[in-house]
Amino acid sequence: MRIIDFHTHCFPPHLAPKALSKLSENIHIKPEYDGTAEGLIKKMDACGIDKSVVLNIATNYRQESKVNAFAMSLFGEEYGGRLIPFGSVHPDNPNIRETIKTLIDGGIKGIKIHPDYTGNMVDSDELKPIFAACCEFGLPIAIHAGWDPVSSTLIHATPDKIAKVIREYPGLRLVAAHMGGTLQWEDVLRHLAGKDVWFDISIVYEYGLAPTLICAIIDAHPKDKIVFGSDGPWSCPAKAADYIRSLGLGRDMEERIFYKNAEALLGLTTV
Ligand SMILES: [Zn+2]
Repeated sequence: MRIIDFHTHCFPPHLAPKALSKLSENIHIKPEYDGTAEGLIKKMDACGIDKSVVLNIATNYRQESKVNAFAMSLFGEEYGGRLIPFGSVHPDNPNIRETIKTLIDGGIKGIKIHPDYTGNMVDSDELKPIFAACCEFGLPIAIHAGWDPVSSTLIHATPDKIAKVIREYPGLRLVAAHMGGTLQWEDVLRHLAGKDVWFDISIVYEYGLAPTLICAIIDAHPKDKIVFGSDGPWSCPAKAADYIRSLGLGRDMEERIFYKNAEALLGLTTV
């Protein structure tokens, strides 16, 4: 069965060692590859992953154009079309709509924002121009959701706040990472399950999401809105895939989670 990993990270070669050691210190997880695109491809080969969405994040506005230039470099033929880079738009950007339009014209299929790194509550006014532009262009937006060690006492994207955003922007193609919110899965069931929002399943196994709870969320949610993800280098995609297979969801649902839903969301094909 094909597998698309909807949640991975990599960095330019000259930044990867430093970025990885800093992040690794913050989150207390040992990386599964060296943080480069080459390292990611090797990991994908070892784990039977066909394609990976690479989520790039500008944590300040000054970095944004460099981050997006790196994202575009992942279209390079040395990667064989196996990496699907997402761009990043920082809320301080005074020309959000134009930046998003330029990214789309360059072939970018989505953007990622991380409200814990940029310090914005997900339902705050600062992020509204980003949601409005993504809505206008039908561009998927992946958002870190739930707890994150970088802001351990203040969660910027909680399930109830994400529910507010999708109410305010009908049709927004929002992917709430980590099954709707790391360590907030009871609230995901209450506020987000069954709604017009996508979940990726990245890093839920490592943070102890119980099979009964993930199955309750999957049962309550639209079948076409859950995608596979690992959060590499912070998790091994083969282990994440084994966790999904262990749930006994049946072939149809596994196909949807492993690739069909991601293909549809990214416009790679139709389900
Ligand atoms: Zn991540």
